[in-house]
Amino acid sequence: MSEATQAAAQAGIRIGAHVDQVDPITEAQERDAPLVQLFLGDPQSYKGPVVAYAGGAAGLRDAAEAAGVALYVHAPYVINVATTNNRIRIPSRKLLQQHVDAAAEIGAQGLVVHGGHVGKADDPEKGFDNWRKAVEATDLKVPLLIENTAGGDNAMTRHLERIGRVWDAISGAEQADRVGFCLDTCHAHAGGNALESVVTDVLAITGRIDLVHCNDSRDDFDSGADRHANFGAGRIDPDLLAAVVRDAGAPVVCETPGPAEAHVADFAWLRARL
Ligand SMILES: [Zn+2]
Repeated sequence: MSEATQAAAQAGIRIGAHVDQVDPITEAQERDAPLVQLFLGDPQSYKGPVVAYAGGAAGLRDAAEAAGVALYVHAPYVINVATTNNRIRIPSRKLLQQHVDAAAEIGAQGLVVHGGHVGKADDPEKGFDNWRKAVEATDLKVPLLIENTAGGDNAMTRHLERIGRVWDAISGAEQADRVGFCLDTCHAHAGGNALESVVTDVLAITGRIDLVHCNDSRDDFDSGADRHANFGAGRIDPDLLAAVVRDAGAPVVCETPGPAEAHVADFAWLRARL
């Protein structure tokens, strides 16, 4: 065991899951999870965020605090702040700010957003610069956690080299210290990044991993497909999956198929290997 691994083991890595947004506190309790991730509204829509919890945003914030549950919000998939298409980039920025605001209202620890992409024929440089502009234009009331993605043409955060370019671009922005990283294991594997070194590789670029999305993958290495699987049911080497979680040392959200019992089984599977 390395020193870092030992420290992570001693500190105890907190493990939770992505859950339904209607009552995330009960969902957390059903899983005995200290943290959960949720959507605020429809993840496929440009309509603004909605707090589905019966007590509203303030009620959810208070209930989470009382229950000792940390909340993370996953931004809608339709957000693409990198694109050169104004009709997507402008509403994406607006939606991003709305979700930051809503995440702050429920007391969330961070907002996870995908890296997005530019068009097939576009110069990726424009996408990196659009990321800088988005960070500069957004009031980051909660940390923004940029997530690596599995596939897509001309993606911003599929490959490490591109992640490095995004980070270079945003590092000069005023709120750069409010931008963190969410490492998704399924996306890294399916995106073609070796899990053996991905934690070290990402840390060399970003200096931080704020959250791990721990997911097995139904597809092969470098397939470009984004299909999550329960632990041990996919194509990722079990020891490698656990090693990423251990070495990242960050809170974990399992975005594996539910229901609660399946998540509890995934947590146990993972804990047994940490
Ligand atoms: Zn993810």
